[in-house]
Amino acid sequence: MRDENVVKCGRLKAQTVVKAVNTRNMHGYYAETKEEALKIALNIIPRGSSVGYGGGVSVDQIGLKDALLNGDYKLIRREEAKTPEEMHDKYREIFDADFFITGANAMTEDGIIVNIDGNANRVSAIAYGPKKVIFVVGINKITKDLDSAVKRARNVAAPINAQRFNIKTPCNELGTCMNCKSPNCICSQFLITRFQNDPERAHVIIVNDELGF
Ligand code: SF4
Repeated sequence: MRDENVVKCGRLKAQTVVKAVNTRNMHGYYAETKEEALKIALNIIPRGSSVGYGGGVSVDQIGLKDALLNGDYKLIRREEAKTPEEMHDKYREIFDADFFITGANAMTEDGIIVNIDGNANRVSAIAYGPKKVIFVVGINKITKDLDSAVKRARNVAAPINAQRFNIKTPCNELGTCMNCKSPNCICSQFLITRFQNDPERAHVIIVNDELGF
């Protein structure tokens, strides 16, 4: 059971972020709980849609991937790829999908979304390709400004992701960013999403709960 003051502060902050998102030609939504976030996401995605994803934990934690897998949707499962060539084909298929579902490494209070990527399949699909993108963002990802968002992405999210996939990087060993240029670096590309030209493309669900890293 979360402290009611924590919930109230989270709600106020999240609602501020939702308003900021709406000024950036994106659709902002507030979800009090993971369950509400799942309902909002499923309301946005019509049955029969093809949906790709980029490995984010937040979409798993609200149960979205399971719901799509068990529902009347075409979930493009990159886990099915057995070779690098098959994985390349999956990335191409995702690029053409109706929807891309993702988390965020960090997000500012004024609605800017920050993601970093080694391979760039995730950030490229966020930037362009799939017809629509749904971001699921926990309250723990919200930072004061862009500088602190980038710092969060590099010093909190990236080391945990390096641990998660056991990627050989200095942050995996030390738990913090060492600004590496290692062959397996997961911080090759930085994407700052500050505006969408297509007003129907991006949907950002801010969840008043901790999600992902
Ligand atoms: S050490 Fe390298 S891979 Fe790890 S967070 Fe820093 S730049 Fe990214």
